[in-house]
Order: sequence, then structure tokens, then C-alpha cells
Amino acid sequence: MNALATAASTPAASAGAAAAAARGPLVAADLARDFPILSRPVRGKRLVYLDNGATTQKPEAVIEAERRFYRESNANIHRGVHWLSQHATDLYEQARERVQRLLNAARADEIVFTRGTTEAINLVAYSWGRANLKAGDEIVLTGMEHHSNIVPWQLICEQTGAVLKVVPLTDRGELQLDAYEALLGPRTRLVSVVHVSNALGTVNPVARMIERAHAVGAKVLVDGAQAVAHQGVDVQALGCDFYAFSGHKLYGPTGIGALYGRRELLAAMPPWQGGGDMIRTVSFERSTWADAPQRFEAGTPNIAGAVGLGVAIDYVTAIGLDRIAEHEHRLLAHATEAAQRIPGLRLIGTAAHKAGILSFVVDGIHPHDLGTILDAEGVAIRAGHHCAMPVMTRFGIPGTARASFALYNDENDVAALVAAIARAQQMFGGPPR
Ligand code: PMP
Repeated sequence: MNALATAASTPAASAGAAAAAARGPLVAADLARDFPILSRPVRGKRLVYLDNGATTQKPEAVIEAERRFYRESNANIHRGVHWLSQHATDLYEQARERVQRLLNAARADEIVFTRGTTEAINLVAYSWGRANLKAGDEIVLTGMEHHSNIVPWQLICEQTGAVLKVVPLTDRGELQLDAYEALLGPRTRLVSVVHVSNALGTVNPVARMIERAHAVGAKVLVDGAQAVAHQGVDVQALGCDFYAFSGHKLYGPTGIGALYGRRELLAAMPPWQGGGDMIRTVSFERSTWADAPQRFEAGTPNIAGAVGLGVAIDYVTAIGLDRIAEHEHRLLAHATEAAQRIPGLRLIGTAAHKAGILSFVVDGIHPHDLGTILDAEGVAIRAGHHCAMPVMTRFGIPGTARASFALYNDENDVAALVAAIARAQQMFGGPPR
């Protein structure tokens, strides 16, 4: 384990090492050594992991934190009178404070732990949506939403009679902002928008969109699944009402994520799942609810996952999200240039403002075939619709191949990607002339 990983796993000792590590451009190859899986070969080749949009790999500090939790701190939280239970509760609540700091939320009780982005969006749909939407109300989504920010709203529309309105995309994969503003009106109750598109890489101008939505009295949920690992996020500066993300895309464990909700909104929202920990009193006649966030955390949560997520947040914070963003932007620019030199390759998503996602199609090769051939070269990418089928329909394609970058990727990974694409083209009879 290198100095940075050690520092991240023991926050008290982190200041010196983190400060030393947090100067100048980051060196991806050094950081890659913090991630044990990156040194295992795949299909006899060096693993070139470019599927970070689906999930990121985990640093030793996060793996060790989960292991240590089960070895030294495991007990159920909140209900226990014994020392271990109180210790586990402290660790869980400290993790909530780390999420609060990551998002710059005003208070820790504005953070609800969930299984991830999907559950966070469903929480808002089933709690806030069912309590606040009625027939004829409008929910504004965009044409680049992940299915997890479409389907929950469709289900709520079926139950409430609310309707969906969709912001169209330009040919570059940007939102048509004039169309967005035209869709907003007195019936708009909610805008739910992705911060960074997982299919296109587009970074949406959410601050401006939130301002416009608030001007018509609508609430705004931001799907931050692809944003939090790649740039600093400040929910107070954005002014959003809800913000959702998944720990596993932020170098943390699977099965843990969070919803930020403004205090007044969470305080007024009814429970969406019943069970232990979310009640104040229970009788067969009537039960009463705990305050937020406990009201929305029924049952035993993923305690070890929350602790691991806290350490993942320490890890990226010690490196600096601004340095990670700079590194990934440089890498994306380099990869974009390299991709544009490949004959027959077409980029899908060429927005002016993008995060580290390169989606593309190659003439004459189905994205799934391309993914399989790249895999044989040790290059892990994603191929398909990326749970964003409406994006594929908009661009008239069955799917794309997608390389998505993280802090441990560098130019060597891009070179491996480009070489593997050339090999696939040779297998399919050579690139077009
Ligand atoms: N939204 C976006 C933009 C995503 O990329 C993803 C994951 N691919 C999700 C939501 C869903 O995240 P999860 O599966 O972790 O709940």
C-alpha cells in the first residue's frame, strides 16, 4: 500500500501525506498501484480498465476499511446499548458526515444513505412524488437520462396522472436549452436531470437549469452518478433540491450511495419503506415516524459499505477532485484526438463540455463485436445502450462502444484502446479507405 492509500485509511494521519500528494498534476501510474485489481492480468494481457462509467475499481484503503470493519467494529447500529454497537453507529454517522462534506451539504441530516443512485431516485419518486404530484402535473426529464431516471417517474405518472415532458438533444448530444425553457411552466412540479450523461459524456449546465426551474416553482433532482467522481460538487452552490449518487462509481463499495435532500423537503416527506429504525412509535392503531434521514433508512443498512464509502471519499479528497478533473479532461482530449484519426470511427457525443467518457461507433463492426475483440486484447470497455435507450434512438444506432476514464488511466491505456480498435478493423477486413 503506498503512502496515499495508508493516509486515506487512517484519516488522523493523513494530513502530511495527502498534502504532499496533492500538488501538481497527478501521476496516474503511481495511483494505479493503490488498486490491487489493476495489476492482475486478464486473458493473459495487462488489464486496461476503461469501464469506469459502469463501476470504478477500489483502492486498497477501501478494501481494507470494509475488512477491518468486519474484523474490529461489526455490530448493528442505532439500537444497541453495548460498546460495539455505539462504535459501529459512530463510524456509520461519520461516513454520513464525509458525504455531507463531499457534496457541501449544509447539514449531515440532509444525507440519506441508499443502495445507490437508482434507490435514491426511487425514494424521491415514491415519497415526494406520490405525496406531491396529481393529474396534469408535469415532470421534465431530458433525452439523455439513464433508465433509472426515467422508469421510476413513469411508474409514478401511472399512479398519479402526472405526465412526462422531455428536453430534446442537439446532434452533438447537448440539451436544447431553449426547448427546456419552453417546457417549463406553471404545471411543472419537478425537473429531474442528469449532471453528466453516462452515454454521451455531456456535462449539463445544471446550475442554470435549476435557477430556471425554481423560477416556475418546480423542484429539481440532479442525478450525479457520473459526476461525483470526476469533479467537485457543491449542492448549496447549485441550489438543487435533491442530488443522487452511487458509491461504487466513486471508488467505493457496491450497494451504498446517497441522496442529498434539502432539509425542509425531507422533513415534509412521508416514508416510502416501513420497518425498523424509521419509526418513533409503533402500535397496531398507528405508528409515527422518526425524523429524516432515519425515516428513509428502514432496516439494517449497508454499514460496512457506508464506512468504505467514507474512506473512498477521503481517498479522492486527499488527491483533490480538481486535480482528478484536470487529469481526466487532458486524457479525454488526448483520446478524442486519437479516436478522430481512426478511419471509420464516429464519436457519439461531442458536446463542448464533457467529462471522461468516449462513446463511439465503428463502421461495419457492431459495438458488441468490438467489445468482444477489445476484451481479447485485455481492454475492458462497455458496449450497448448503456441503460439510455432513448439516446440510441435519438442517434439512430443500436448502441455504442464506450471507454470511460478514471484517475488511474493514462495515455498508455488510450494507446492500447486505439491499437485494439485497429486490430478489430483488420479482423473485419480493414478500415474503410
Ligand atoms: N444514472 C446514471 C447517469 C448512471 O450512469 C447510472 C449507472 N450506470 C445510474 C444512474 C444508476 O446507478 P446505480 O446502478 O449505481 O444505481
